[in-house]
Amino acid sequence: MINNIKTIKGIDVLVVGAGSAGCLTAMAAAASKKHKVLLVERYGFLGGSSTQMLDTFYGFFTPSNASKKIVGGLPDTVVNELDKHGEIFLRPNTYGAGTGVNYNPERLKNVWDTLIINAGIDLLLHTTLIDVNQKGDGNYECIFWNKSGFWKVEPKRVIDASGDADFCHLAGFEYETAGTLEPAQSMTTTFRMANVDLETYEKEGGKKRLADIMASTTYPLPRKEGSAHAMNIPNCISTVAVKVAGLNALNIHDLTKAEIEGRRQSFLFENFFQKEVPGFENAKIIGLSNQIGVRETRRVYGEQRLTKEECMAAKIPQDAILLCGAPIEDHREDENGGSETFWQYIPKGGIYGVPYGTIVPKGSQTVWVVGRCFSATHDAHASCRSMAQTMAMGQSAGMAAIQSLNTEASANQLDINILRDNLYKNNSILEVPDNIAFTGKAEWKLNF
Ligand SMILES: Cc1cc2nc3c(=O)[nH]c(=O)nc-3n(C[C@H](O)[C@H](O)[C@H](O)COP(=O)(O)OP(=O)(O)OC[C@H]3O[C@@H](n4cnc5c(N)ncnc54)[C@H](O)[C@@H]3O)c2cc1C
Repeated sequence: MINNIKTIKGIDVLVVGAGSAGCLTAMAAAASKKHKVLLVERYGFLGGSSTQMLDTFYGFFTPSNASKKIVGGLPDTVVNELDKHGEIFLRPNTYGAGTGVNYNPERLKNVWDTLIINAGIDLLLHTTLIDVNQKGDGNYECIFWNKSGFWKVEPKRVIDASGDADFCHLAGFEYETAGTLEPAQSMTTTFRMANVDLETYEKEGGKKRLADIMASTTYPLPRKEGSAHAMNIPNCISTVAVKVAGLNALNIHDLTKAEIEGRRQSFLFENFFQKEVPGFENAKIIGLSNQIGVRETRRVYGEQRLTKEECMAAKIPQDAILLCGAPIEDHREDENGGSETFWQYIPKGGIYGVPYGTIVPKGSQTVWVVGRCFSATHDAHASCRSMAQTMAMGQSAGMAAIQSLNTEASANQLDINILRDNLYKNNSILEVPDNIAFTGKAEWKLNF
């Protein structure tokens, strides 16, 4: 029985979940230096998907031969901090989601620590939100569990950055569960391999050769697609190859199955790479993602809902708080129960703006929702979920929360012009830049 709940007092802004969206939210809120910010994360390290399973920020650059850099502000700070350690390179790409910023994910864990601690944010790792009691008038009692017991916090403002919208679910906000209207995007265990002879791999045809071998192999691969790319660490590659479709990441039995299936597939891929891909003869898996990568679960119904039509119209509304130029990239189950990736590009290399109302749960006075649980339809979400966008959402929500505290305005009645002015002042990009971005391997710095 829970009979001894300790209280954490005096919290102005509570951020639940420390993924790319949550960390940026906390940093933006703490920048006011005036309000006490608490960031709570269920795992023992920061970064969420950015450090659990990935190594490339997409979404800073649009996918085109005339690529534009469309995210700036605090997200740049994260990349610049990694750059100080010499641990980034650009992965030029005119296809897919555009040029990515590749980083060493283990270094990123350390960079997130530094940024969060230096910003003066109160941080609790290994701490999970388990319940929320509504107290009326936009007040919430949030209950957490960690190894020291149970804790309650009654913050003035809350930002749900849990990826799964756990706060919104427990607080009674409405949401769509992925898989109920359209099939949910598949899950992926990523794995990293060491001891790869990348020179031989490239000489023998690299990416194109890998795709051909996968398409024609008789090896019992779980799927015939998948990418392997060089990491920031010599002779190592990282993959997005495994796909686990048709399971619900909010159902613990499904999630358990998915973790086991993701690991099984990873080692099938290891064997395939060793046997069939030039350069991989002596390669070995040296790391599996900390958990299977979940692309979507709950998507909250917000004051506004980003739709595919809005993405494809490539317009920037007056209340836009960030930009996105990424195509719809829908990883889904095909008609034979296999896995496929469906791509749909924004016409003419277009760029759209994401309205403020998509990070405000419907009717919310004191709550925002950011990252992969923001308010969007299935296909719009499949375009607007890259980490540059989730970080930009975080910056907007953190600044919105502070503005709301300073002006006593409700989340859903905030003066968006003031928020946008503040975003401009903090180097966020809200209009399409004229200049073409520098996207060569070592050209990140040239964009400033
Ligand atoms: C397999 C895969 C590949 C992808 N590839 C790329 C890519 O290459 N580049 C790219 O830019 N994007 C990619 N994406 C998309 C991108 O990673 C995500 O959309 C983005 O990282 C989501 O960020 P987030 O902060 O919203 O969520 P998350 O990163 O999931 O962070 C949520 C955080 O909340 C914590 N949390 C959850 N519940 C609780 C709770 N109850 N209490 C406390 N803490 C909690 C979690 O532990 C986690 O740290 C990929 C996604 C997947 C799944």
